[in-house]
Amino acid sequence: MKNPGIKYLVALCAILGLFSQFVSCGAQLYKASLEDDTQDSRLKPGTTASNSEIKTALTSGIHARNGWQKIPINFRVDPSLTADQRKGLGNAMALWEKVVGKKLFNYVGVHDGVHGDSFKDLYSSLNDRVNGHYLDYNWGKTGKENFVLATTIWNYLLSDANTIETADIRFNSNFYLLGDAFKMKARDNLEVVDMTSLAIHELGHLLGLTHVSESEDPGSIMVPSLYIGEGLTNRRVSQNDIRHLQSIYGCEGSSCDVEKVYEDIVFSANNELDQAYNGETEVGGTTPDDHPLNLLESH
Ligand SMILES: [Zn+2]
Repeated sequence: MKNPGIKYLVALCAILGLFSQFVSCGAQLYKASLEDDTQDSRLKPGTTASNSEIKTALTSGIHARNGWQKIPINFRVDPSLTADQRKGLGNAMALWEKVVGKKLFNYVGVHDGVHGDSFKDLYSSLNDRVNGHYLDYNWGKTGKENFVLATTIWNYLLSDANTIETADIRFNSNFYLLGDAFKMKARDNLEVVDMTSLAIHELGHLLGLTHVSESEDPGSIMVPSLYIGEGLTNRRVSQNDIRHLQSIYGCEGSSCDVEKVYEDIVFSANNELDQAYNGETEVGGTTPDDHPLNLLESH
């Protein structure tokens, strides 16, 4: 039996969420908007790409149908990421790699001395061609609203608007506490955000996915809102999310069985919830312990 109180609150907030992008519901439960959490750098004011060019690159659920110029994607991390933040990012990468059955990410080390606050604005972090995951403690510099949880930015190849050349994720550490929502407590008026759940969504953008509407696919991690707060996680993707990513990167081995991959991911997420709320672990299938939790260290 999973925590019925939480489920009730989620359902209640889902209804309230129809009327507002940013809803406070109960003492510890918020639905945070992710509507404004992405940007193709060519949409930057003063650059030349036309809106029609950008739009033609978009098909349903996908903004870069050719994916990345090269996989695995070499990436670095902000040296100030905590162990739980690294673990959350690693979990999210492992989930998307499971979806296609191939290595998508390659950790090449911390970005020495470079933090989100090292960049003068949102787009300048793309200039070094390092694919980085950064914490911003001065979120105002990104030009995004305070409530935006994180932002994924990318450059397409100049020669091909369907292929991603470089990308960064900037995490809002100014107004949120990012980490393991099963362990963290809100403090200093900052709400807890589950790093794994948020990173699955942002990495979805980084890999080439767009938002989908809740009415189109309510189970999608690419719906532009996320429940945040202590104990609230959404560490899963929908079957459509799996199909979207496989339409870009293909699939290998057992990952080509979409229903099986989906069931494994849901089983694993449910098991984590059982452990967190009831101290129970089901036998069989994929348990959380099977995840390479120290992915970032193991590369
Ligand atoms: Zn988003």
